[in-house]
Amino acid sequence: MNIQEISVAGYEQIRSCSDANGYHGLIAIHNTRLGIAIGGTRFWIYPTEQDAIKDVLRLSRGMTYKNALAGIPFGGGKSIILKNQQSVDREVIFRSHGKFVETFAGRYVTAEDVGTTPADMEFVRAETAHVAGLLSRSGDPSPVTARGVFRAMQAAAKARWGSDDLENHTVALQGCGNVGYHLASYLHKAGAKLIVTDVDEVKVRRVVADFNGVAVATQAIFETDADIFAPCALGGVLNDETIPLLAGNTEIVVGAANNQLLDLEHGTQLAQLNILYVPDYAANAGGVINGCRELLGWDLSKAMKKVDEIYDTILRVVQIATAERIPTFQVADRLAEERFNA
Ligand code: NAD
Repeated sequence: MNIQEISVAGYEQIRSCSDANGYHGLIAIHNTRLGIAIGGTRFWIYPTEQDAIKDVLRLSRGMTYKNALAGIPFGGGKSIILKNQQSVDREVIFRSHGKFVETFAGRYVTAEDVGTTPADMEFVRAETAHVAGLLSRSGDPSPVTARGVFRAMQAAAKARWGSDDLENHTVALQGCGNVGYHLASYLHKAGAKLIVTDVDEVKVRRVVADFNGVAVATQAIFETDADIFAPCALGGVLNDETIPLLAGNTEIVVGAANNQLLDLEHGTQLAQLNILYVPDYAANAGGVINGCRELLGWDLSKAMKKVDEIYDTILRVVQIATAERIPTFQVADRLAEERFNA
């Protein structure tokens, strides 16, 4: 294994690793003041290693904020395995990754993320104990993430409309994947109306059939007459093109996708348009809280109680933002920083 240290101000440790199997990975530890760093492994194609480094820095920092705001005793870290166009033997690649994770001797614990599955984590587990989200343990975090997003949506409704009852409110759901499907289930049970989209027709059809959704084209989701927009697909979805389309229809934006704001200025724009933006990492912490069952031995009811606290966190964020007339993302960042700097 060829391991290089990379030094970046504000980060505790960053390493790049490659080996003879064609494996090329990055691990960044942003901050461990609240505990060991946790954060998933992303398996993705990047134009250059510099792009991947930029992403691992952003993602590991995001984990520090997410864990701090959720009130769980962990710091922030993240892994990226750089994917290339060739087909790969997943066992070989993820075992190499496990060896790389092991070099951190427990300061960093990984799990699944975009492009990886609990089955891949079983290969990682063959080389290191410092991995969570295994099939045999806490498993797929998506239903728990969806629960947290639903609670965040209820809190946003309470803050905006005075009641957290979502019955007869219309939600535009972008992304009918793992989290989107379960979120649709919660919303359907709560009596909300669903307008849905996904680039994958099969996933759209499943949500339409199971939860009485109305399907629209991917671009049309921003222009539907929905009270709430729920981004559960990719990051960067709140930007110069989409925000003007949402304005006038949507009053609340809350979803599971990470890094929804393309730039921070887009959070300010939403506030200026009086669209209540629920900071993504505050809403989507259910998955990482689910990991506490495995990492801290919590039972399901303890984890779900913590997930339900997302409701109170969102109410607090909105109250402070309203009182101080500042965007919600700034309040969430400040509350998280107060925790990990304390
Ligand atoms: P997923 O891959 O199962 O679902 C994402 C869906 O978005 C897919 O069905 C995909 O086809 C669809 N999609 C992609 N581009 C689209 C587009 N332009 N328009 C419409 N649909 C599009 O992923 P997931 O696990 O459901 O996660 C969804 C988001 O939530 C991701 O951003 C992820 O990082 C974030 N997140 C997930 C969890 C979790 O527990 N799974 C936890 C925290 C954050």
